This record gives sequence, C-alpha cells and structure tokens, in this order.
Amino acid sequence: MQNDTIAAIATAPGTGAIAVIRVSGSQAAQVVQECTGGRVLQPRLATFVRVRDARDCVIDECVATFFAGPASFTGEDTVELSCHGGMLVTRRVLERVLACGARPAEPGEFSRRAFENGKMDLTQAEAVMDVISAGSDLALRAAQNQLQGAIGSKVEAAVDILINVAAHVEAYIDFPEEDIAPDTTDALLAQLDEVAGILRRLLDTADEGRLLREGVRTAIVGAPNVGKSSLLNMLLGYERAIVSSTAGTTRDTIEESVALGGLCLRLIDTAGLHESADAIECAGMERSRRAGAEADLLLEVADVSAPRQVLSMPETGAHRLLLLNKCDLPEHPDWAGETGAIRLSCATGTGRVELAAAVEALFLRESGERDSLAAINTRHRHALKQALEALAAARAALVAGESPEFVDVDLRAALDSLGSITGRIDTEDILTRVFATFCLGK
Ligand code: GDP
Repeated sequence: MQNDTIAAIATAPGTGAIAVIRVSGSQAAQVVQECTGGRVLQPRLATFVRVRDARDCVIDECVATFFAGPASFTGEDTVELSCHGGMLVTRRVLERVLACGARPAEPGEFSRRAFENGKMDLTQAEAVMDVISAGSDLALRAAQNQLQGAIGSKVEAAVDILINVAAHVEAYIDFPEEDIAPDTTDALLAQLDEVAGILRRLLDTADEGRLLREGVRTAIVGAPNVGKSSLLNMLLGYERAIVSSTAGTTRDTIEESVALGGLCLRLIDTAGLHESADAIECAGMERSRRAGAEADLLLEVADVSAPRQVLSMPETGAHRLLLLNKCDLPEHPDWAGETGAIRLSCATGTGRVELAAAVEALFLRESGERDSLAAINTRHRHALKQALEALAAARAALVAGESPEFVDVDLRAALDSLGSITGRIDTEDILTRVFATFCLGK
C-alpha cells in the first residue's frame, strides 16, 4: 500500500549519543502519539516525549519532531524520534513504534516515497546516496549540485526541445496530405542538434563522475627503498604501513583511500610496495603490470638523493606522475634538469600540496568550473547513449525525407531514454498535452 506508515532507524548502527527513528505515512503522528501516551505533536515543533511499552513502562525519553506533509522529505506526514543512541534502546523504541501501527521500511523506501510524491526526480534521489557516500570535497560538491537538480534540469531542458520536435512531427502524421516543408525540416534538425549537444556535454562528465564516486585508482610504483611506503603513510597521515630501511617488510595487503585535494585516491596493490629488486625485475613486473593496468594514476617514486635507476615500467593507459622523494637530502646530479617531476619529502611533508594540485590538474576541469560540477553516473551514461543513438536515427530519417511515423518512433525512443534518467517524464502525457495546444500554423 502506498500510503501505509513505515518506520526505520535512520542513523548508523552502533552506539552514539543520539539515534533517530523515522516514521513516515498518513498515520505517522498517530503512531507516535500512541506509543508516547497520547502526547499531541504540533507540526514544525520538537516535543519532549516518553516512549512507553504496552505496560506503560518508559522505554526511553525522546524528542519527537513532526513534519506535516507535504513539507517533509517524503512529502508525507513524518515524525523523527530522537532517542538515546544505544543499540538496544533504539531497537526497543523501533519495536514499539511498529507495535503501534507502523511497518518496517524497505531499504530506500523513504527516498522512493519522496520520488513518488514528486519531491525529487530520480537523479536527485540518487544524489542523496552520493552525498552520503562522498569520499572527497569535490564528490560532495558534485552530489549536492545533483541534489539541487543540476543533472535533472539539463535532461529536462533537452526533453522540452525534443517534445517540441515530436509535436511538430506528429502533427504531420495527423495531416498525411502535408509533407514536412524543407524550412521546417531545417528548423527541426537544428533543434535535434541542440539536444544532441546538451546530451554530449552531459556524457562528457562520465569519467569525472566515476572518479568522484569511486575514487582515482592509484598505484604507487618504484624501486625498493625510495620511499613508497613513506608516501603512503604521508598521504594517510598516520603510520599505516610499517616503514623500514630494510626492503621487503611490508607483507600484508593494504588497500586504503585517501582524500587528496578535492579527490579521493584509492591506493591499489599497496602490498607490492616492498617487492625485492629481483622481483621487480621478473615476477614483480607482472604485479606492477596488473596494478598499472587497473590504475587511473601511477605515482612513480624515485630517490632524488640517489643515482637515477632505470626501471622498465609497465605499459598502461594510466596517467603518470614522477615523484622525486627525499628532497630534504642533497640532490644527486642525475636529477638535474628533471623539471617535469614533483620534488617532495615524505619525511617533512614538503610537496604534498604540489602533488594534490598535480593530481587535480590531471583529472578535474578548471577550478573555476568546479562549483557547478555535476557528473553523471553509469545509469545516466547508458540512458544518454541510447538517447543519442535514437536522436541520430531520427535525424537521418528526417534528412532522408522518410515519413513522419518513422521519425516519430526514434524521437519517442529518445524521449523514453531521457525519461528513464529523471523518472519523471511520461512522454505519452506530455505529448498529448503539447499536441492538444499545438497549431500547425495554418
Ligand atoms: P619503500 O621501500 O620504497 O617503501 O621505502 P620506505 O618508505 O620503506 O623508505 C625507505 C627508507 O627511506 C626509510 O628509512 C625511510 O625512513 C626513508 N625515507 C622515506 N622518505 C624519506 C624522505 O623524504 N626523506 C628522507 N631523508 N628519508 C626518507
């Protein structure tokens, strides 16, 4: 049932000062009143309540905040019960709420209701999860922009234009004696191209979207003892890997994520940091090849105080940054004139800022554009590609002077794909509405 009343613990499992139990649905206020001895809740007010069991014993003292629909996250009446944050007490409060008439919410059901009640489109619902899982400042910024509708509004702008085109084309279906006039065809083609431009610009954000959501897969490579583990530790800001002047002490597999600049680096294959020199030459190469093949970024570390060693690095499509570590020591003449590298010292922390800037420059657009950053996810990417293919087919049919029915099939396919991104657009409804007011101009 759509409007039954659901409840769930909204805060993370575990012990904390406060836990929040969310109750949403037409009976939300009544359910909470029932388990708090009839205390009446006023919209927009926080009310001190005692949640009591069936025998009238107090389970917990809570603060109940009542959001009357539609001015709530879900669009329905919602009560948030802030109780003490113990695992048992929270569970008992939830059980009592359920006993008083709510049912347990399914995963994502609050957001689903928000979507179904028109509080947000699908891209915004997805953004809620992106905000929660953001691992870097920029990922958070992008998620917030998406939550404000940055992706949905661009898709809807494209849909608006496309509906106009479809309405024109469908008008010709209804008046079969008319051919689409050449100047009308030109105007429609221009509109299709405009839509394709909007969609391509959105598609261009796909790589950025993956990097922001999943992090930059990063491999640290280099000869033994140059400071690879030390670099990992510097990035992590604490002694995660055991640093030793004897090579080969890092045995356990370490995979870590670090925030660097606005990005999140996912450090892969960090157990290989202490491969022995022999291993680097033979078996170790296989390992670095694998790490390199998976990586978006190779951080090649070298010791700037020692002679330059030639290591055959794996062929990979990953971006590379050469890091000359130990710049607190006198520089070996081999490195003179090495201008493309970043000099840093894991011992003193020098060069961290330069490293962050270099990584950002490789993966992110100009800093001036980052405020408006909103990047698509894989689901959007798939739908956008389908829409672009359908658009290309519609364009070709229009150019070839095919009958309007053929053009229309492709336009509708494009509209359906775009509609699946926001989940909002019922093309049938909109076309009917637009077409009803549409005039052929005669
Ligand atoms: P790895 O084998 O490449 O992982 O190298 P380690 O991180 O284990 O470092 C090897 C040695 O170099 C250790 O004794 C570190 O303390 C030292 N080391 C690492 N970074 C620096 C640095 O920036 N300056 C100096 N002076 N020593 C460093």
